[in-house]
Amino acid sequence: MRRVDEILAHNRAFVENREYEQYWPAKPQDKRVVIVTCMDARLTELLPKAFNIHSGDAKIIKNAGAIITAPFGNIMRSILVALYELNANEVIICGHHDCGMTGIDPRKVVGHMVERGVPKHVIHTLHHSGVDFDRWLTGFEDVKSSVEKSVDIVRQHPLLPPGTPVHGMIIDPTNGKLDWVVDGYEYLATSTTVDL
Ligand SMILES: [Zn+2]
Repeated sequence: MRRVDEILAHNRAFVENREYEQYWPAKPQDKRVVIVTCMDARLTELLPKAFNIHSGDAKIIKNAGAIITAPFGNIMRSILVALYELNANEVIICGHHDCGMTGIDPRKVVGHMVERGVPKHVIHTLHHSGVDFDRWLTGFEDVKSSVEKSVDIVRQHPLLPPGTPVHGMIIDPTNGKLDWVVDGYEYLATSTTVDL
């Protein structure tokens, strides 16, 4: 059976047997956090369990590496929508150990694109049209500094609701242990407010 046919066969039984009912939120949103994390498949179930997050508790935004690079990109837009429109009031950037984005080499990725059938001239055309593959496909050397950088982009954002705690964490994908690398409460308590 093809993969999506399998998924749909399961889905029919899931709906018919009303298995969905166990995932209905028990109470209105409780934790009110927005979490940015990695799409790594090991975190799919582990991360919500490790955070004690249930249906309705949190917004979880995922991408490759939990990296925020663009202040006006897709991830930052989702964070702002969560904070202004969807009842969240704290932000957690959660990277993880052993991430596939550690030390990723953009040139290698482009090499794989060519191996898989993308014509070289397409790569050249995009390159000459201003697509900076080195920047666009870059990962990080060290998850802690990557989390710190992403936290910095969020908390320096001119549209962030003032007083929003922005935290940085790293999760261990083997046992779910969380390390708090940027304490958003402490930052808010110690950052000086300049009245203009
Ligand atoms: Zn990852």
